[in-house]
Amino acid sequence: SVTVVGSINIDLTSYLDRWPNVGETIAVRETVSSLGGKGANQAVAAARLGARATFIGAVGTDGFAQQAAGELRREGVGALLAELAETATGLAFIDVGPEGGNMIRLAGGANHKLTPADIRAQADVLAACDVVLLQNEIGLETSLEAARLAHAAGALVIMDPAPAPVPAWPRDVLQNFDIITPNAHEAGGLLGWEPKMLDEGREAAKVLRDFCRIGAIVTLGEKGVAWELGDDVGSLPAPKVKAIDTVAAGDCFNGALATRLSLGESPKEAIAFAMRAAALATTRKGAASSLPTLEELEAPLKS
Ligand code: ADP
Repeated sequence: SVTVVGSINIDLTSYLDRWPNVGETIAVRETVSSLGGKGANQAVAAARLGARATFIGAVGTDGFAQQAAGELRREGVGALLAELAETATGLAFIDVGPEGGNMIRLAGGANHKLTPADIRAQADVLAACDVVLLQNEIGLETSLEAARLAHAAGALVIMDPAPAPVPAWPRDVLQNFDIITPNAHEAGGLLGWEPKMLDEGREAAKVLRDFCRIGAIVTLGEKGVAWELGDDVGSLPAPKVKAIDTVAAGDCFNGALATRLSLGESPKEAIAFAMRAAALATTRKGAASSLPTLEELEAPLKS
């Protein structure tokens, strides 16, 4: 099984016919509210792809908290949510402009108040799972506590150091993770130089491997993925698809990777599967709404 410890938001996405000016009020074309946050997205990805998935995170005591919890349950994700009094559930205010570009204001709210003690309260859950998946949208000390408890019980710990900007984490932080999965930009934050092509991705993974317990998987968007995991090294070009919206591609990749590694698949097989899932997600709009199910992945990819 897979346990995700991380962020959960409600995304309030508005579609605009034009951008407003400062001081101006305009009517939007449409607003959609949906589950978001990297942690929640990755848990949903894992559940849709067949994992027994649990999510540990924090919400407020507002109406958004109930919506977030309800959406996780509908997706079949076990939701262990700390409900924090006098705190707002995380909100992402997303404006999509007429040409498809977006502007996002993120109010992290309860996500920043999830503490190491909240994680210790779920020690049994962390001890019982195969893979623990982390991101960088909650406090680092909280993620590190999850990593420590998971390791004590023999689980595999994957850290997706997203979103950017990534702190230049020192070695003693990276040593808490088995596998780190930066995209090119995040690898740049960790290394001081940004890989562009697959061979540079290999180089980046090689350097990062020595900082983590097992190694690194560097994702390079439409170019593909490079990895160095102990003695298992390689790279794969991304499947060619007609990408229309790459939002949540990384979340899909990480949820899928964790799912397949939890089932005992080899790194190469798990990475190839995650790349197929992420490629399919880029052909559909939205974040959680773009995440594929196992059945959808079994159909041939349209290029
Ligand atoms: P993030 O979404 O976190 O910024 P990437 O852009 O590297 O990270 O995307 C993650 C993975 O999603 C890639 O390694 C790749 O497998 C897949 N992916 C992203 N964009 C495309 C694309 N245009 N075509 C095919 N696969 C893609």
